[in-house]
Amino acid sequence: MRKIVVLGAGYAGLAAAVSLAARTKRRDDVRITVVNAAERFTERLRLHQTAAGEDLADLRIPELLTGTGAEFVCGWVTGVDAAARNVRVDDERVLEYDTLVYALGSVSDTSAVPGVDDHAYTLDSAHNAETLARRLDGLGDATVAVCGSGLTGVEAAAEIAEQHPALRVVLIGREEPGAVMGPRAKAYMHASLERLGVQVRSGVEIIKVLPDGVELAGGESVAADAVLWTSGVRVSPLAAAAGLQVDERGRIVTDSALRSVSHPEVYAIGDAAAVQQTYGLIHGTCQSSMPTAVHAAVSVVREMSGKQPKPFRFGYIHVPVSLGRNDAVIQFTHPDDSPKRLCLTGRRAVWYKETVSSAPWPAFRRLIKHPAAGSFAWRRGGRYTR
Ligand SMILES: Cc1cc2nc3c(=O)[nH]c(=O)nc-3n(C[C@H](O)[C@H](O)[C@H](O)COP(=O)(O)OP(=O)(O)OC[C@H]3O[C@@H](n4cnc5c(N)ncnc54)[C@H](O)[C@@H]3O)c2cc1C
Repeated sequence: MRKIVVLGAGYAGLAAAVSLAARTKRRDDVRITVVNAAERFTERLRLHQTAAGEDLADLRIPELLTGTGAEFVCGWVTGVDAAARNVRVDDERVLEYDTLVYALGSVSDTSAVPGVDDHAYTLDSAHNAETLARRLDGLGDATVAVCGSGLTGVEAAAEIAEQHPALRVVLIGREEPGAVMGPRAKAYMHASLERLGVQVRSGVEIIKVLPDGVELAGGESVAADAVLWTSGVRVSPLAAAAGLQVDERGRIVTDSALRSVSHPEVYAIGDAAAVQQTYGLIHGTCQSSMPTAVHAAVSVVREMSGKQPKPFRFGYIHVPVSLGRNDAVIQFTHPDDSPKRLCLTGRRAVWYKETVSSAPWPAFRRLIKHPAAGSFAWRRGGRYTR
């Protein structure tokens, strides 16, 4: 019996689990176990909506996996023993593996600036986003500081400003909002934030989060009744603790087929993996996470039939950004994520963004029925990845 354990059932972990289950369903020598912290699927792409007080669909992982043959274990992974090839769940249960698919995702980096862990809210889990939603509900006429002017910060600031018009929302960060986008999309984003009343403070360095605001380099303070932290990326320390080779951010360094370079029986996918392409390292997105998952599943099955896995190639297509429920901007990109001239704005962009955000769950169902379709579902990047 070949034991495959998938750690994490986010966008990457679930795509890998259902692809593996579907591709091995005629074999009786494979056992797939999926471990995740919760039974409910976290639609991370929508956690800014949760924080603004919206209710999301209740998507249940065990329901999705019913009939696929994959077993679901709800629990917190506390350790990986790469030498003994097992993982520990909730410190009690031990799961052995022949192949490990590591998909524990990432969270925002709350360790880089003092006070974040103590005083700031995050969008790192549904629970955290719901806690912020409850706080915002009770605030009335007050100020919310959204720290981090990357795309998560922009989406959160716009959503909160739209759903809570009485609140003053300040978006604070180093870079100007939409720095990764082309001039048209960026200008549109700025106008939309202004229309929603979001005050932008870019080009500043936050050095401390306080119970009642944030302190900036240079001595200035911004008073706030609630602080949301969206800046930076941090991954689980489990991979490094297990002795797997990781990069400076703790992500598992992979070979071209997405296997750990130090432990080839471990596949690393999604935000937890440092995946190199010709144009550079893939940065954490759902857009790239699901392709890494399908590729890993295909590769595991190839290895089981004595074939070599193929190199993973991926090119980006877009940067979709919501600006509340009634506005959005989509920047189309070259495979290396640099902006093209083309962008979508307004109602067409809202429709596009909504289509993208709601796509993963139906895609998991499709992968169960038609696993081969998954292999064609992403751009390979052409000359950018050759
Ligand atoms: C507000 C917001 C908006 C975003 N918008 C976009 C977007 O528009 N487009 C885009 O491409 N990307 C977007 N992203 C990024 C995207 O969500 C991530 O890149 C994506 O979720 C990565 O998928 P993943 O499967 O690697 O990790 P995740 O989806 O985070 O899944 C990891 C899973 O592992 C579980 N887990 C972690 N540690 C443990 C443990 N020790 N034990 C058990 N379970 C554990 C978690 O609970 C989770 O279920 C957004 C992110 C945020 C926060």
